[in-house]
Amino acid sequence: MYDVAIIGAGAGGITTAIYASRAGLKVALIERGIYGGQLYNTDVVENYTGFTTVDSEELAESMEEHVKAQDNIDHIYADIEEIKQDNGKFYLVDSMFSKYIVAKTIVIATGVKHKKLGIEGEDTYDGKGVSYCAVCDGAFFKGKDVAVIGGGDSAVESAIYLANIVNKVTLVHRRGDLRAEKVLQERLFSLDNVEVRWDCQSKMLFGDEDKLKYLEVWDSANLGISIMNIDGAFIYIGMEPVTEPFENLGVLDESGFVVTDSRMNTSVDGVFAIGDVRLDSIRQVVTATGDGAVASESVIKYLQETQL
Ligand code: FAD
Ligand code: NAP
Repeated sequence: MYDVAIIGAGAGGITTAIYASRAGLKVALIERGIYGGQLYNTDVVENYTGFTTVDSEELAESMEEHVKAQDNIDHIYADIEEIKQDNGKFYLVDSMFSKYIVAKTIVIATGVKHKKLGIEGEDTYDGKGVSYCAVCDGAFFKGKDVAVIGGGDSAVESAIYLANIVNKVTLVHRRGDLRAEKVLQERLFSLDNVEVRWDCQSKMLFGDEDKLKYLEVWDSANLGISIMNIDGAFIYIGMEPVTEPFENLGVLDESGFVVTDSRMNTSVDGVFAIGDVRLDSIRQVVTATGDGAVASESVIKYLQETQL
């Protein structure tokens, strides 16, 4: 029986595990993929305190090394699909090996995943021109023309990254203003091979049998349809929470994010949440790690008060 089971080993879950183990708790750190989570979806991080710029993969690797150097942590490769509660204990059900992990408390640190546009052709050309990860797939489009759809930090950062690899990037945004950080916007606008199509809503992706060739957009400023020739479409229209396993706990809002207070407590005793999966998060590496430190304190306080 663990004092705390942390589900997800992104920046947030790793930090919770480090703090909890240093406090002497018996910790299970559970991950179904790679330690570092979303850090593997980007190239560099320039806003994590102490690093002017750091390679995201290297940051993830050093976080993994840090947590693996601690005592009291079992590192468990598992895909949690459901949580059952009985007598103040949590039974975490793993879909891969049909086993249970039992803990006195749980910390939900499962992050977010990309949203889909839901337009015709998106699924058909997924992997044949449609991508959700510039760092993973950008190299396939060397010297080609691509569209990036969206106007937040992810879209703008990815457009800048792709501009170094491809012939031309067209950023397609549905409004006339970007949501991305100003520093990223300025960098984007300074690039010669980037065009921004403002006020354009993506309508359809199409091409031949095995290759994407066109993006159809509705230009709401000029009130017309236009068709862009593209080899790739990178879709960055926001994120949705990864919280299916927690639907029965009563801790989610209507959009599926976990509701917590400022101490990372949910409305259910013994259930805590941190990082991007939290409704109030500003979804940064630095806030995910900060949440992790706070959550470990709350877990300790809860265990002391309940004498579990
Ligand atoms: P995540 O990193 O999402 O980790 C969650 C982990 O949980 C994953 O490893 C996942 O495999 C695991 N998991 C999920 N479900 C289960 C399950 N059922 N069982 C077991 N394991 C599970 N932030 C910055 O501060 N600076 C940046 O420059 C920056 N750039 C970004 C660029 C892009 C393209 C994106 C998408 C995000 C960027 N961010 C950036 C945001 C930052 O990556 C996140 O805020 C941060 O990584 C969130 O950490 P987390 O621990 O909350 O979740
Ligand atoms: P986001 O901030 O939610 O932005 C999503 C963008 O997609 C918005 O511009 C939105 O348009 C657009 N959009 C949404 N639905 C759309 C649709 N159906 N059709 C067309 N466009 C649509 O998402 P994100 O950029 O993925 O960022 C997620 C979080 O991660 C944020 O908190 C962000 O700060 C963080 N992050 C940080 C960094 C960094 O620090 N460098 C990098 C990446 C991500 P509107 O603007 O019109 O709503």
